[in-house]
Amino acid sequence: MECSVIRLTHCQKDIFCFSVPEKCPSCGEELRGSRLLEAPVSLPSPLANGHKSSCCLLIAPAHDNHTREFDGTSDLHTGISSTKGVVYNYTRTGVRRDQSGWEQCISVPLVRPDMFHLLAQWDQYLDRFSEGPMWDPAWHRFDDDHHNCFSFCLCFINGILVAEGRSSLSRDSFTNTFILPKMRRVSKYTMLYQHIQVHQFYMVDRQQDTPVTS
Ligand SMILES: [Zn+2]
Repeated sequence: MECSVIRLTHCQKDIFCFSVPEKCPSCGEELRGSRLLEAPVSLPSPLANGHKSSCCLLIAPAHDNHTREFDGTSDLHTGISSTKGVVYNYTRTGVRRDQSGWEQCISVPLVRPDMFHLLAQWDQYLDRFSEGPMWDPAWHRFDDDHHNCFSFCLCFINGILVAEGRSSLSRDSFTNTFILPKMRRVSKYTMLYQHIQVHQFYMVDRQQDTPVTS
């Protein structure tokens, strides 16, 4: 997804496209060069570069998903970023420290920018945690359902929460609160994007909450 989606409004329609069309697809009026009532708005992509998102949980399509897309059916892979954007992720062969490959992913910030003591120790925590026997293939076997990349992330996050004197999160509550809302947004954006790629624009009756930004 390399283009950015813009939204413009004309004749009570919201029109989503990659660039302003010559004529309004609804009423046919010239748009280029004419003054729109409201300036086109660019919609921020819900995907972030994981190597520029420090201290985040990252969710990306799995490496064996060759199209590298969030199409709702593909397997996902999760990891935790260091303060320097190195992505620690647990796989069958142990914990990988990726410097690339996470350029298009969902990121969930885990640390508030004012939590200085936590930020200062983050990389050390992450290193020490990754070296634990839980994630060493000689000690523990990777399991697709019960001991996987997400177990690694959740276990790390819960370790931090407990160290901070807060209560830990169950897999379900973490998924429902932090991951699913972002996934829904990505899936809406992806559908919109693919529709524009095929049809040049997507048009809906003007409403207060548009399908993507809501
Ligand atoms: Zn129009």
